[in-house]
Amino acid sequence: MCIARPILRNVTPMAVLLIVVLGGCAAPSSITMTKEAQQAMTPDQALERLREGNDRFAKGASTHRDYPAQVRATANGQYPYAVVLSCIDSRCPPEILFDEGLGDIFVPRVAGNYAPVDLVGSMEFATRLAGAKLVVVLGHTECGAIKGACDGAEMGNLTTVIAALQPAVSEVQGVEGPRTSSNPEFVQAVTERNVRRTVETIRTDSPILREMEQSGQLEIVGAIYDVRTGRVQFLN
Ligand SMILES: [Zn+2]
Repeated sequence: MCIARPILRNVTPMAVLLIVVLGGCAAPSSITMTKEAQQAMTPDQALERLREGNDRFAKGASTHRDYPAQVRATANGQYPYAVVLSCIDSRCPPEILFDEGLGDIFVPRVAGNYAPVDLVGSMEFATRLAGAKLVVVLGHTECGAIKGACDGAEMGNLTTVIAALQPAVSEVQGVEGPRTSSNPEFVQAVTERNVRRTVETIRTDSPILREMEQSGQLEIVGAIYDVRTGRVQFLN
């Protein structure tokens, strides 16, 4: 949180400027994305901005945001720099854990963070048409959908979700112990395998995204959020 604000009444405008420039509360990430900022950003810079945002979040140093001001700033357009495909899990909302505000990132979400065609289409909109430079597939530890897939769970329409995660379960080999949710190492391996599979699915199912990545306009990367530490680890 910003700690500079309460003392601003008693300082000169120049001192306020110095506070801001020398590391006060107005970090660049607190500024709503503009068309110019989006166009100037490279995929690598987009990735770095997410890393820095998660670092602030994990350290308890998230940016103070004036949301009504951001509503006004984004009313006539949006210029998000990244797409973060994540699970629906209530513990990993991407905007919060990457310390972003309104208009900064697109966030498609589905249990188990896989990539059904509707979400791939949404990513094509977010990148080709709306200008985002980075696609992140964000899995997380202690994922109920992944555990359900490990156990072969079935229930209503959730069965369809679980079935989409089954290939990741099948592909994990060489982990000792039971191949169920009772084995944390197995669950972790399936979680990572599912993220990597989803990245490959996006490339395979979307010639648009694949070609954008090959031409350097876009990067598609995997990452895993740790619900115990608040930290995101990007996968190589
Ligand atoms: Zn989950």
